[in-house]
Amino acid sequence: MSFEAQRRRVVEFLVSMGYLRNPSVIKALLTVPREEFVPAHLREYAYVDSPLPIGHGQTISAIHMVAIMTEELNPLPGDIVLEIGTGSGYQAAVLAEIVAKQDPGKRGHVYTIERIPELVEFAKRNLARAGYGDYVSVIQGDGTLGYPEKAPFDKIIVTAAAPDVPKPLIDQLADGGRLVIPVGDLYFQRLLIIDKVNGKLHKRYGIECVFVPLIGEYGWREKS
Ligand code: SAM
Repeated sequence: MSFEAQRRRVVEFLVSMGYLRNPSVIKALLTVPREEFVPAHLREYAYVDSPLPIGHGQTISAIHMVAIMTEELNPLPGDIVLEIGTGSGYQAAVLAEIVAKQDPGKRGHVYTIERIPELVEFAKRNLARAGYGDYVSVIQGDGTLGYPEKAPFDKIIVTAAAPDVPKPLIDQLADGGRLVIPVGDLYFQRLLIIDKVNGKLHKRYGIECVFVPLIGEYGWREKS
């Protein structure tokens, strides 16, 4: 079966399960070629709905998790988005497909931060090959500090597990903006969705999940 047919099959399954509802998120998942974001020797597993290793002890998230987090974030064409935890670049490409590629105003852009230099290069290569190089800026650094140079952000998504919400991310969220982040201990988290409305934070919890740790000044400490 072609990659395109596999992509369609998994998206149809996620729609039938109720994980995917938003037409622009469905279109993005039908468009972004996930096979370009997994290591070459794992391409045949690109549409298996589970996390896959991308080296350095890290993973590309399962397709349903990307679907659920993107639906919760509710990205809109023209949004300026910050992602913490670039990994393969796949989630960033899905976001860029919605906020930038489908934006007639040409404002939308995705900034994504990754702490591991080799994964920064891996993601940049993947994004360029898949046609998202102009819509996504990949930055190496500690994403728990956010990216003050380009703040405020309409949407912020964290794709690694945090012990708590890093304060710089709250500060860098635009009024009217939304932040989605897995919060909990090292082995088990829940998605936390925060809306900033007139400077006030409105919080609600989403699904339970398991992510690799967010390591940094406002995250977990690196093992010495
Ligand atoms: N969104 C990714 C994708 O689409 O492939 C998957 C993210 S992976 C589950 C989590 C990533 O967060 C890892 O690549 C890890 O190195 C990164 N990470 C952990 N702590 C970080 C930090 N403080 N700043 C930036 N990246 C971090």
